[in-house]
Amino acid sequence: MKNTQISASKYRGRFAPSPTGVLHFGSLVAAVGSYLDAKSNHGDWLVRIEDLDWQREVPGAASEILRTLERLGMEWDGDVIYQSQRSETYQDALDALNRQGFIYPCVCSRKEIADSNRMSVGGPIYAGTCLKNPAPISRPHALRIRTSNDRIEFNDILQGSYSQKLKDEIGDFVLRRADGIYAYQLAVVVDDAEQNITHVVRGADLLNSTPRQIFLQQLLGYPTPQYLHLPVVTNEKGEKLSKQTSAAPIDLSNALMQLISALQFLGQNPSLEMSEGNISSFWQWAREHWQADQIPHS
Ligand code: GLU
Repeated sequence: MKNTQISASKYRGRFAPSPTGVLHFGSLVAAVGSYLDAKSNHGDWLVRIEDLDWQREVPGAASEILRTLERLGMEWDGDVIYQSQRSETYQDALDALNRQGFIYPCVCSRKEIADSNRMSVGGPIYAGTCLKNPAPISRPHALRIRTSNDRIEFNDILQGSYSQKLKDEIGDFVLRRADGIYAYQLAVVVDDAEQNITHVVRGADLLNSTPRQIFLQQLLGYPTPQYLHLPVVTNEKGEKLSKQTSAAPIDLSNALMQLISALQFLGQNPSLEMSEGNISSFWQWAREHWQADQIPHS
């Protein structure tokens, strides 16, 4: 199966790293997967720096990530956008949801939220306390969106059908934190729509975020892109590679081997001779031979 679900509009994919550290093998796999799926479909590949949360940002990581992509021969289309510069756009989307009556302020403390007796994939399910007893907005407050139990279902190109009932399984989620930071779920939806992204290829750790994103797309009148969630790279302990699990940065002294390993992880079959070539012969081969249906599911 080459990807056959492309709509009439030109394929536009993206890679959206958070600059919480340099690129490691896990983020390289997401970069390579999204790049090759876009390029083998004659599409554009955009890069967006998801630097909303300045508390988690590592100074210099964003430019280091871009430099690494360049060194790996991965050219992006158009200008890189930075979420930290787009607060007004996210506020406009929040205002639009508010006008529809979906947004409510929440003054609950972390402790009150953690006391919820229901847990979801992403933590405790908010009990809706501030929906039942509206909070005084003179106090610092987060903004939440009211969810429902209409089933949200989508067909992931690799993982197949996936669905959630948001109210029961996730709960009303935060779109703007009390410290003023816009939530990933809101920003990603606004940016994917504004950048006309048709295909989202990213790690399967975000599979369970996708129904929240589709819910927001529907309320904001945005199209829903196609989704392809790649298997997540884990360490020997079975933990996702990340800054928290001390994943090693990509070793640029052997960039070609790193790329070959990423391609193998994605279930493609680069030939042995490839390690004797160079980065440009690597990409030529990889673009021509990319087969999304060879990617392992998880
Ligand atoms: N910024 C997210 C991350 O680095 C990826 C978001 C996305 O691809 O939707 O994990």
